Amino acid sequence: MKALTPFLLLALGACSIVPETGRRQTVWFPESYMNSMGASAYAEATGEYPEITSGAQYEMVQRLGQKIAKAARVNYDWEFKLLDAPQTVNAFALPGGKVAIYSGILRVAQNEDALAAIVGHEVAHAVAQHGNERMTQKMLATGVTTAADVLLASWGNMDESARAGWMEAIGAGASIGFILPYSREHESEADEIGLRYLIRAGYDPHEAPKFWERMAELSGDNRPAEITSTHPDPLKRAERLRSLIPRFLEEEKGGAARR
Ligand SMILES: [Zn+2]
Repeated sequence: MKALTPFLLLALGACSIVPETGRRQTVWFPESYMNSMGASAYAEATGEYPEITSGAQYEMVQRLGQKIAKAARVNYDWEFKLLDAPQTVNAFALPGGKVAIYSGILRVAQNEDALAAIVGHEVAHAVAQHGNERMTQKMLATGVTTAADVLLASWGNMDESARAGWMEAIGAGASIGFILPYSREHESEADEIGLRYLIRAGYDPHEAPKFWERMAELSGDNRPAEITSTHPDPLKRAERLRSLIPRFLEEEKGGAARR
């Protein structure tokens, strides 16, 4: 019972509001911890492929990355890497604003607006702290008392092997913790937030549903893991995005006028 009081305090203190949607979420891991784990997972994951650092596609990634980052209105140390991986149809964003785009997704994106839709979706996962929330949920599932003890011991003071052991116990080992499949709720939320970023950044939002329709045409094996694992059918997703566009265009236009 002794551990219950600090737990309750932590649970209350760790409630946070998701930007754009206003949903309440519980996130326990300190942002500094998430960001430093994000940075090391980023170095590890992007190190697997050569980086493309010049040319038209590189320029496009930098340009749209900056626009999406601005639309997200979060002060991260943003990085947008384009990886030379023509067989990989994928992209991801890690806590702290570390974004990677595998060159294989460019042929499905086909244009800058669609690529901005993908990046917007990934950036939304990072800004909405979906990784932190998922790890928190795992922690709760593992055991409340232990969770409270670990938090009280503080992440900063824990030695590397103890921390690694704990991360493994909650199923969020090393970099994989950030690249685990998101829940359906997180996916829908990232779609919604990403669509707002897309509109705010001045891109054509209609390219988002069109991208998902092209994704639906790919065979199962070629679809990116992040995007398909727990996802609704890509066509349902396209349909939902399309239904949100008129309202979001109107709301974002109003927002722009007020600013
Ligand atoms: Zn996603």
